Amino acid sequence: MPEGRTGQVIFATGALMPVSSPPVPDGAVLVEEGRIKAVGPIGDVGRENPDAEVRFFPNYAMIPGAVNAHAHLGFRRKDRPEGGTFSGWLSQLIELLPEKESWTAEAARDSAREAVEAGTTYMAESSPYGECLPQLAESGMAGTVFAEFFPHEIGTPEEAVDFIVEKARSLREGLPGRVNAAVSVHSPYTVDPESSRLAARRTREMGWRLAIHLSESPEEVEFVRDGTGGLADIFGSNEWGGVGTSPVRYAQDVELLAHQTIAAHLATGVSEEEVEILARSGVAAAHCPRSNAYLGCGVSPVRRMLERGIRVGMGTDGLWSSPSMNLFEETLFAVDLHGLDGATGLSLATLGGARVLGIEGETGTLDAGKWADLALIEVSPGGGDPARDVLEAAAGGAVAVTVVGGGVIYNRDSV
Ligand SMILES: [Zn+2]
Repeated sequence: MPEGRTGQVIFATGALMPVSSPPVPDGAVLVEEGRIKAVGPIGDVGRENPDAEVRFFPNYAMIPGAVNAHAHLGFRRKDRPEGGTFSGWLSQLIELLPEKESWTAEAARDSAREAVEAGTTYMAESSPYGECLPQLAESGMAGTVFAEFFPHEIGTPEEAVDFIVEKARSLREGLPGRVNAAVSVHSPYTVDPESSRLAARRTREMGWRLAIHLSESPEEVEFVRDGTGGLADIFGSNEWGGVGTSPVRYAQDVELLAHQTIAAHLATGVSEEEVEILARSGVAAAHCPRSNAYLGCGVSPVRRMLERGIRVGMGTDGLWSSPSMNLFEETLFAVDLHGLDGATGLSLATLGGARVLGIEGETGTLDAGKWADLALIEVSPGGGDPARDVLEAAAGGAVAVTVVGGGVIYNRDSV
């Protein structure tokens, strides 16, 4: 397979699933300078572009690459803290942090590789002060690192927000063209209200995306409402716990909820009233169901959020709360959890994530004009629910080729 970005190449497969339109048997995409120039039946695309090199894989399906809307790269599978309760898991995690420093970079490299080998083409990664940016940048994936900051380590809210904005700006220098850096307000229990408000305002003014964790666990709900419970035990009593409302209402009060914000989890304490607030604010959701299950969090009301027009994407979270970095596996779990059909699942894993991140004009479907970000899956989908067949195959290790911007970054079979 050609690995350069010059010249015209037609990638064709037995089944093509553009996501934005119905599947095409023996479908093809024409790629030139990293972007998709045409999509359709291989006969048409080939006839109209006779000089293009044709690479036809009859026993594969072609889909857009996975867009992971919420992940942490810097964890490794082998010493994952015990799950069960969120606060129990978090206190183990905090205890392990000093020792973790020595292997975070290696873990980030391995996590990124695992994602690439599972067909991921775009990765939204959150890490303390953006520490996993180098590994994302060298992975070949497109993506954004959301730099988390912890104001108590820095100074006043103004100083903390100045610091993290400058940090993200400096991280942006010298990056590959499709890798970016932005800011994350980690959570309602680690970032005080004033720092949260300032960070939301500053990033919004600059047109940056903002990543947050929100309404994840029963402990977070209790912390925000009453200022007590497992998280208060970990972080000590503080002046911002116990505001008497839900995490979603709290986030609204401190101006975190807006179109450019990606709220991860929304798993516990999201009633109809909260869904309404989320819908009106235009905030996007990153759904991480396997992490939620592992940490004793609830089930995110994904069907209701979709019905209300909330943008929903999928996230793997990291290997300390999730069994793999395979977003298609995460999505298959969600499909079964919520009783969704395969097409909805495939859309959540690709276009859904792109819409969450505001990059749906650039990636997330196989359409002319977008980057050629795609995955080839070794499967011949059947008639019942072909998108589910593809999801199951991709979840089970059948990703054979991953292409980002027309460049092959993974080629399992050297085809
Ligand atoms: Zn997370």
